Amino acid sequence: MSKILDAFLNENLQNLRDQGLYNEIDAVEGANGPVITINGKQLINLSSNNYLGLATNEELKQVAKDAIDRYGVGAGAVRTINGTMDLHVKLEEKLAEFKGTEAAISYQSGFNCNMAAISAVMDKNDAILSDQLNHASIIDGCRLSKAKIIAYNHSDMEDLRAKAKEAKESGLYNKIMVITDGVFSMDGDIAKLPEIVEIAKEFDLITYVDDAHGSGVTGKGKGTVKHFGLEKEIDFQIGTLSKAIGVVGGYVAGKKNLIDWLKVRSRPFLFSTAVTPGDVAAITRALQMIMDSTELHDKLWENGDYLKAGLKKLGFNIGASETPITPCIIGDEKLTQTFSRRLVEEGVYAKAIVFPTVPKGTGRVRNMPIASHTKEMLDNALAIYEKVGKELGVI
Ligand code: PMP
Repeated sequence: MSKILDAFLNENLQNLRDQGLYNEIDAVEGANGPVITINGKQLINLSSNNYLGLATNEELKQVAKDAIDRYGVGAGAVRTINGTMDLHVKLEEKLAEFKGTEAAISYQSGFNCNMAAISAVMDKNDAILSDQLNHASIIDGCRLSKAKIIAYNHSDMEDLRAKAKEAKESGLYNKIMVITDGVFSMDGDIAKLPEIVEIAKEFDLITYVDDAHGSGVTGKGKGTVKHFGLEKEIDFQIGTLSKAIGVVGGYVAGKKNLIDWLKVRSRPFLFSTAVTPGDVAAITRALQMIMDSTELHDKLWENGDYLKAGLKKLGFNIGASETPITPCIIGDEKLTQTFSRRLVEEGVYAKAIVFPTVPKGTGRVRNMPIASHTKEMLDNALAIYEKVGKELGVI
C-alpha cells in the first residue's frame, strides 16, 4: 500500500475510534427475522427494516425458488441489452398498480434509484430544494446532477416556501425540484406532503418523494403519498424493495412519459445488470400480498404502538415518531454506543445510530419492531431496556 494512503487510513480510523464514531459490523448467522443469531447468541432483533417480516416469508421463498428453477440465478445483462425478462415487465406493471401511477421502472437498489432518477432530469442549470434530513442517497443523487442544492430546515414549510420563492424569483434556474423522504428513518416522522404539494403548485416545482420507509408501512401499506391521497400530484414516487417489501431493489413510479425518459436516460438502468429473477418474482408476489391484505401492516402498527408505549412508560425519550420506527434518544455518542452494546449483551439487538448518520449530540438507539415479533419478545426487550436504562442512568 502507498505510504500516504496507509497514513491517511490509520490516522482517520483512529480518530473515529477515539470519538466513539466507529461502528463495528456484526455478521448475522442465518435469517434476518424477529430473532437473530450473532456470535452464537440469540437476540431479539429491533434493527431491521424488514417491517412486514417478508424477508423470511415461506411463500416468497418458494416463489423465488420456482423462478430460479425456470429462469436461472442471473438476469444475464443490463436491461436494455437483453436483461429485461417478462418477470421485470410484470414487476413494473405491479409497481404502477401498487403506487396508483401510469407506469414504473425498477432499479437494483433504492440507493441506485436516487442516483439514477435525479440526474436524469436535473442538471447544472436547475435547483433542488432538499429537506435537511434527507437520506444520504438523495444527497448523493442531487450532487451527481450538478444542480444547485438548496437545503431547507427539516419539515419547515415556511423555510421551504421562502427558499422556493427566492429560487423562482431569482430567474437563475430552468427547473426547480423539491425532494423529501416520505418517512424520515431516524425519527419516524412523516413529511408534510400536502403543504409541499401546495408550495410546489405555487412555484411550479417538480415533486420527488422517496418513500423507502413508508411503502408497506403508511397508507395502509401503500405508502405516504397514498396516505395523503396525493398520487396524482407527486411527479416522482421513489421507493425501495428491500425494506417492508423484504427483498432488494428500488423503483420510480410516475407518469408514462417520465418512466419512458428514465428508461433511455437513467444511467444505472442503462449500464448496470438487472435484478435477479428470483428476487423479481418474490418482489412481485410481495406487492400482491400487501395489496390483498392489511394483516401484516396491522400487526406491524400494533407492535409499534406496544413498544412505544412500553418505552415511554419506562421514561425513555422516544422523540416524536409517527410510524413504528421508535428511536430512544440518548444524546452522547459514547453513551449511546455503550447502551447499545449492553442491550446486545442482555439479548436485544438495537443499533446505535450516531453522527454522521444523525446530527452530533443526538445519538440514539433505534428500534424497529416488525410484524413477526410476538408480544413475549417485545416484553422481554422492554425488561432489558429497563435494566440497561437504569444501570447507565438514562432513565
Ligand atoms: N432512500 C431512503 C430514504 C433510505 O432510507 C434508504 C435505505 N437506507 C435508501 C433510499 C436506500 O435503499 P436501498 O437499501 O434499497 O439501497
